[in-house]
Amino acid sequence: MIKENIVNFKKSIPKHVTLVAVSKTKPISDLQEAYNAGQRVFGENKVQEMIEKYDALPKDIQWHMIGHLQSNKVKYMAHFVDLIHGVDSFKTLQEINKQALKNNRIIKCLLQAEIANEETKFGLPFDEIYGILFSEELTKLKNISIVGLMGMATFTEDKQQISTEFASLKKLFEELKNTHPSFKILSMGMSGDYEIAIENGSTMIRVGSAIFGQRNYIL
Ligand SMILES: *Cc1c(COP(=O)(O)O)cnc(C)c1O
Repeated sequence: MIKENIVNFKKSIPKHVTLVAVSKTKPISDLQEAYNAGQRVFGENKVQEMIEKYDALPKDIQWHMIGHLQSNKVKYMAHFVDLIHGVDSFKTLQEINKQALKNNRIIKCLLQAEIANEETKFGLPFDEIYGILFSEELTKLKNISIVGLMGMATFTEDKQQISTEFASLKKLFEELKNTHPSFKILSMGMSGDYEIAIENGSTMIRVGSAIFGQRNYIL
């Protein structure tokens, strides 16, 4: 099934949209099956779990950290992480920069924007995103590259609301592209709403259950 799902996704999404296969909680064998079907970009939300999978799987995989990140965990993945999606504080950027420098790398990051009207979701209000991107201090962080934005829509059946939220993020992204040429990636859309996200200009979708099946957290 996983193989068919990967093949079908690749066929159905536009060429400019990158598929991140969200493999959190899933066993190595599932990731290997996706890999064998040609998938090379995987998303995890726990650093420890990502490290174990990184160690076990082929080294041409690009690992994306998509979960909320604690600063003290950055050092464990700084040598291999390809893109960090959920950055929502300047402090975290400083820590990523510090660990990237130690590893002699530049680590790509996305700022997570608050677009849902749900308290449970992380993310920066738009004015704070401007604050970070135009701050003097940011110019000192030479070992990070902010390459775009990430957002999660409200968990709702209301497609119009989801669409409005994604559209607001796309608008912010387009504005910031004018001043920040490094902006290339707009990460929005999951299993339940990726089609709406693509309609609204997503360039990267993060899909878990629609590829790997439901997650079982009660193991
Ligand atoms: C789990 C997760 C996803 C994937 O969710 P699905 O609904 O299974 O596709 C995408 N983005 C983030 C940030 C996640 O934590």
